[in-house]
Amino acid sequence: MPKRDFYEILGVNRDAAEDDIKKAYRKLAMKYHPDRNPDNPAAEEKFKEAKEAYEILSDAQKRAAYDQYGHAGVDPQAGMGGGFGGGGGGGFADAFGGIFDEIFGNRGGGGGGGGGRSNIYRGADLRYNLEITLEQAAHGTETKIRIPTMEVCEPCKGSGAKSGSEPKTCPTCGGSGQVRLQQGFFSIQQTCHKCHGTGRFIADPCKSCGGAGRIKQHKTLAVKIPAGVDEGDRIRLAGEGEHGVNGGPPGDLYVQIHLKPHPVFTRDHNDLHCEMPISFTTAALGGEIEIPTLDGAAGVKIPPETQTGRIFRLRGKGIKGVRSNTHGDLMCHVVVETPVSLTDRQKELLRELEETSRASGAKHNPRAKSWMDKVKKFFGE
Ligand SMILES: [Zn+2]
Ligand SMILES: [Zn+2]
Repeated sequence: MPKRDFYEILGVNRDAAEDDIKKAYRKLAMKYHPDRNPDNPAAEEKFKEAKEAYEILSDAQKRAAYDQYGHAGVDPQAGMGGGFGGGGGGGFADAFGGIFDEIFGNRGGGGGGGGGRSNIYRGADLRYNLEITLEQAAHGTETKIRIPTMEVCEPCKGSGAKSGSEPKTCPTCGGSGQVRLQQGFFSIQQTCHKCHGTGRFIADPCKSCGGAGRIKQHKTLAVKIPAGVDEGDRIRLAGEGEHGVNGGPPGDLYVQIHLKPHPVFTRDHNDLHCEMPISFTTAALGGEIEIPTLDGAAGVKIPPETQTGRIFRLRGKGIKGVRSNTHGDLMCHVVVETPVSLTDRQKELLRELEETSRASGAKHNPRAKSWMDKVKKFFGE
């Protein structure tokens, strides 16, 4: 997929001032921020695109490199050789490392065959989204994931050439992988565009891999999920990312944790919350009820005159976070349930209750009384 022009992404002119670039980026970042666009991969892509464009164009040196050489000037994957180490840093010298190395004869990488020079890259990092239950997150688990991978093509043994044939020396660069350009005083070597620096040319490509030397396959990996992981946590599997190019080290695989919604509990960091419906009578007279926790049932003593909204905190019944030494708490939110499907007899008892408490209503329902007082005041009575 060809990369879009950074100026086009931000919607600014090529001569835009630093401030205008910043403004344009802010506008896009606000619009496409993942927090504002949950579960919207298109917005996430736009956000990343804008971020990358801003990172380059807001840095005068990177911007100059981009202006002169396009994406190849700033993108470690785009074929400048050398390039940035693992993203991040990367000032002027890094961005042009490849060119200077070539000018001063300090060539990186051993290159194969006819003394050709290879472009050596670390493989890309990969991300795998893994959905687990709250119980699995709390107690830790081990699971297997199946991920796509590029493996050496068997029929051609990775050469990319049809069985029985061999890759030939690239006619454009004569196998060196480099072509020489005269620029003023300097004679500059650049990566050969015909063979992309490999020095080899495949006239008759392998049918299995189309000349790439690698084919897409799947591999199964065991992943150990530590107890206490939370939504968005990432587990790094070193070296399980994409293969490096020309013998470069592989990238890493990041397993990103997502929690499935739980029927009873919601999680807030290491605390758990749940709703605790209690009957009207238990609320009034008190009693003991049993509630579920992640480690089995627990009893909660309900004192008399318990109101809706009261929170009972069960210490240590939450989750022990990956990086914390203690367990969180479980908060039970009381909901007093109005009784339904009453029999005639039950209704009669409730009417009796109402009658006996009417005379001294304020005493039994202080909240209703205080609310009525406020309402009266509001209407100016
Ligand atoms: Zn070539
Ligand atoms: Zn092949």
